[in-house]
Amino acid sequence: MNLLEHQNRYTDQADAVADIRIRGCWVEIDINAIRHNYRQLRRNLPQHVKIYGCLKRNAIGCGAGVVAAALAQESIDGFAVASIADAIAIRQRGVSSPILLYPGPGLEDARLIEANSLTISVSSIEELMQWRRVLTTTRLFMKLDLGFFRAGTTPAQLPELLRIAAEYPDVQVEGLYAHMSELPGSQNDKAEAQLARMHDTLRTIETSGHRPALVMMSSTEGVLEHPDMDFDAVDPGALLLGISEISEPARPIALRPALKAIATRLVSVKRVDASLGPVPDGPGFRSGMILGVMAMGWGDGLPRYLPNGMVGLVRGRRASLIGPSHLEHVRIDLTDIPEARFGDEVVLLGRQGEAMITRDEVAARWGTDIIGLYAGLRDHVPKLYV
Ligand SMILES: *Cc1c(COP(=O)(O)O)cnc(C)c1O
Repeated sequence: MNLLEHQNRYTDQADAVADIRIRGCWVEIDINAIRHNYRQLRRNLPQHVKIYGCLKRNAIGCGAGVVAAALAQESIDGFAVASIADAIAIRQRGVSSPILLYPGPGLEDARLIEANSLTISVSSIEELMQWRRVLTTTRLFMKLDLGFFRAGTTPAQLPELLRIAAEYPDVQVEGLYAHMSELPGSQNDKAEAQLARMHDTLRTIETSGHRPALVMMSSTEGVLEHPDMDFDAVDPGALLLGISEISEPARPIALRPALKAIATRLVSVKRVDASLGPVPDGPGFRSGMILGVMAMGWGDGLPRYLPNGMVGLVRGRRASLIGPSHLEHVRIDLTDIPEARFGDEVVLLGRQGEAMITRDEVAARWGTDIIGLYAGLRDHVPKLYV
């Protein structure tokens, strides 16, 4: 689709289309795919299990505010983010659902936390006391480390932390959560060990009467592979955006990709002639070639070091990108597409006419994985929700 077609079709997104004109590059996010992924998950979870959509890193590049607004319409129970900026983006869309902040914000964010009704994470008595000093009411989830070796209190220290928290009327413990260490699918025994640690910990705090109302430990891999880890709530992120490394999950959830296209346009097209001197030595240059320049560079999220084999679609056909990558521009070889013109759309991911470049192909060629591709999307690049 070219810019004029975008403009006519997405009249509700005039700002995004105006941004595209200014930037010359954009990504397309399929908001219905995100709704679909959420509905699949909801249908496959027991009714009592709440869903906290993890929208950290600006919903992995897809736009925390817009994604949250769509999921709030689907009646999702809450959200979780690591940065206060993402939480504010969600509130600015008028979303009033609970938002849990993973470790990230500092004491200086106290006013923003209260003004936006956010729930913090706490991992130690020291942290709890520091937060109490700056917040009127400290609303929190306790974070528990089950063997990830990242943030979170140890299972041994949790009972004391909960006991002390219960002594203060200004402290409200809304939940308890843990995050599984990476790739439980490939390390099933490790997942089982973490689950066993969770059960032991819960037994202890149930005995002392300090079990929080919401216990949560399952994210994307957990909800797909380990229904026994549902507890009271789950906080998947990647899954909502259609990202998963599990090809045949235990739960029959078929995901649709949220990232539909990465596109830009040609800002220059010329036939190279002898008056330019000899063509550069680098791969991809040839004398007499038609050289195109795209309005997107590594400053917009393309790889800093352009790998071999990167392609774009122009007029429905594949053309090779030519390195090195520049901050705002990348060259493209249009010799075999002589009808290409200034202003034409270049699709780096997605469909153009009959031609298609898939997410898997882009991730492989760019030397990353799907989540790396999403997370590499830069926030200043306009997003069109299609
Ligand atoms: C990132 C994160 C999640 C979501 O993980 P996904 O793999 O994206 O589902 C859940 N909980 C915590 C604590 C996280 O840091």
